[in-house]
Amino acid sequence: MTWLRKAKEGLKAQERRRDLPDGLWVKCEECGEILYHKELERNLWTCAKCGYHFRISARSYIKILLDEGSFRERFSEVVSTDPLRFKDSKRYIDRLKKAREETGLSEAVLCGEGLIEETPCVVAFMDFAFLGGSLASAAGERIARSILLAIESRRPLIILWASGGARMFEGILSLMQMAKTNALLARLSDARVPYISIMTHPTTGGVTASFASVGDVILAEPKALIGFAGPRVIKQTINQELPEGFQRSEFLLKKGMVDQIVHRLELRKTLGWLLRYFAATSVLPEKPRRRAGESMARFRAASVAAPKPMGLEPSDNGHPPAPAPTPEPTPTETASQE
Ligand SMILES: [Zn+2]
Repeated sequence: MTWLRKAKEGLKAQERRRDLPDGLWVKCEECGEILYHKELERNLWTCAKCGYHFRISARSYIKILLDEGSFRERFSEVVSTDPLRFKDSKRYIDRLKKAREETGLSEAVLCGEGLIEETPCVVAFMDFAFLGGSLASAAGERIARSILLAIESRRPLIILWASGGARMFEGILSLMQMAKTNALLARLSDARVPYISIMTHPTTGGVTASFASVGDVILAEPKALIGFAGPRVIKQTINQELPEGFQRSEFLLKKGMVDQIVHRLELRKTLGWLLRYFAATSVLPEKPRRRAGESMARFRAASVAAPKPMGLEPSDNGHPPAPAPTPEPTPTETASQE
């Protein structure tokens, strides 16, 4: 009955997926290659043979992406309670307690400020090991406060997603986080502070359906599962075969939902480049932007009445000071030339 034993071993491996594998040798979950633990760590937990990205914790991402010792955690005082006194097979409060013990985190998202290649930024990292990286009221509030911090300090916002969606144990309180954070992201956009969204495996549910997809730049790790509902549910609903590679980053890149797929080894460098790019462009004078759905007449009227453009302030945040605004054709002139 060897097959029975094998099946049992297989189940164990599935459970351990949540955390980083330990031991001297690790088997790649994609190609089966046996990898040396130290070597895997040097490769930032990606398979040297097939490029498979192992799931890693929020703290590991901080180590990989931020300048050493620059991270300062913020909003750790915001924690979930159990407003609905929810209970299914277990009490929600017990699930929370267990997740906190296992991950050493107090919530599914770790927020703070730090430097990436010496550029200051506000960051939020989701951790899938904490109740599936689910978004509940506390996680949403932490992200909301991080957005406000980015607006106030005029530092770019970077959020790394690894989430199964909204946390159903908190019902509507979880769902309303989508609207709340999106409204703040609109304010962030109005303040001309960039937001970079990084989708890692998996980014699903309400997170994809809202704020993860509205970044000024959307990056994704290779082969990450990104979608709203799972492929099986969609297949049953539309009663059709789904295309190959459906809901993977490569597919979404082709469809224009993702701007770039970045290997984990390149992620820090890419972010550093993007931050320097945004810092450089922020000193350019702002051109009037026409909003989605805005009529041309209204846009022209608003452009004439528009107040002085806002740019990233020169200051203590490391950005170069803005030069004196150069004279430009007025918006009315620009518009009449079209
Ligand atoms: Zn592999």
